[in-house]
Amino acid sequence: MPSLADFPQTFLFAFLVPFGLAWGSFLNVLIHRLPRGESVVRPASRCPGCGKSIRPYDNVPILSYLILRGRARCCGAPISPRYPLVELLGGLLAVAVLELLVFELPLSTSIARALGIFLVYFTLGLTLIALCFIDLEYMILPDSLTLGGAAIGLVTAHFRGVDFQTSLLGAALGFAIIFLPFDLGHRLLRGYPGMGLGDAKLTLLAGAWFGWRGAVFALFGGAVQATLTTLIVYAVRGRIEEPDAVVREREALLKQIAQAEGDERVALERERDLDPVMQAPESGLGKMRIPFGPFLALATLEYALFEPALLGSVFEALLNPSL
Ligand SMILES: [Zn+2]
Repeated sequence: MPSLADFPQTFLFAFLVPFGLAWGSFLNVLIHRLPRGESVVRPASRCPGCGKSIRPYDNVPILSYLILRGRARCCGAPISPRYPLVELLGGLLAVAVLELLVFELPLSTSIARALGIFLVYFTLGLTLIALCFIDLEYMILPDSLTLGGAAIGLVTAHFRGVDFQTSLLGAALGFAIIFLPFDLGHRLLRGYPGMGLGDAKLTLLAGAWFGWRGAVFALFGGAVQATLTTLIVYAVRGRIEEPDAVVREREALLKQIAQAEGDERVALERERDLDPVMQAPESGLGKMRIPFGPFLALATLEYALFEPALLGSVFEALLNPSL
């Protein structure tokens, strides 16, 4: 069996970075279609402006955006800079997984195992990038990505050298550290949940992949970065706006309530009261609503990439101060 030593690093980069860019391109389709409940496989890419199918040569990651100067060839509709950004992130993810995880393996590692490690962590990274952008735009974290990603974490635990029990307990703890204080606690104290279950399912994913340390890092690392980002955005722009999709959804529900009568109206009002996103945000820095999911996803990705080299020793130092 050939080993990692038989493959020059430049060869693996040349092969896997375009692979990453192409998956970044697919991720754009997923981010656009998954929250709308559309198939992510069919039809082929269409222009969001006019619906015409996009020719393959206009769908080359990053390059097409630059050549077309950010406008669709068919109708001139502006293309969101999110498209080249997510494509670039796909490529960077491939570089990061190779550099930080694959090339850290012993050179005697079989190439099959090395590629397996690459694919497993690359899949995790793609899932987290998708969750980040979907939550930013729609304030939802689809179960197919959070629970689906957690299932991959459990199934691959042994292959990745993580004890299955560690993975299972991590998942349970990951769910509990958000569900108990923020959802159940908030419900008991204030009558409605403070954070969505989507956030709890995302820390469940972190725990399923990396045990309790991963879940704890996702929550605290995510909270620190969310706080810093909120302060910076607030300092620069003076306010934080909700995503358009959330405002539209709330308006649609309020309109439905206004038109409904009797039991139907009661049911809709109940739906409004139970969903924190359906309440208009109050003003003031402490009351601002920002999605937490992107920061949980970011911290989980940081843990995946940096734990072996950096975070692991920080945890050891915290747990065994005498060392
Ligand atoms: Zn078009």
